[in-house]
Amino acid sequence: MGFFLRTVQFGALLSEDVRSTTVREADRTTRERVEAHLRETTATPSSLARTLEITPDTALDAVQHVARSLDGTDGDERVLVAPPTCRDCGFDRFDDLANRPSRCPDCRSEAIDEPTFTIR
Ligand SMILES: [Zn+2]
Repeated sequence: MGFFLRTVQFGALLSEDVRSTTVREADRTTRERVEAHLRETTATPSSLARTLEITPDTALDAVQHVARSLDGTDGDERVLVAPPTCRDCGFDRFDDLANRPSRCPDCRSEAIDEPTFTIR
């Protein structure tokens, strides 16, 4: 799939702060639903939010924790991310791939496609 040519292993990029965050039970359930959904298909924070009836920020947070937990296992599965991309100039080298950037640092456009996640 050409779309995922530039994917990176997402869990490896996360900071120690994210890795060590304590898990509350309600969050755990959300993460399990996000994980199950990403096994089925690819999704952006907004599409996860619509499907699972959570906010995009909650979806992003859940994806980060799923990525971290899969990274800590011996299994082959990993969260992959296609970076956010500027629709006007194609810029996609954002520092934080787990974000929904509001503006392109290159051309100042606000037309930024969200990052897309999946589990492979
Ligand atoms: Zn741009």
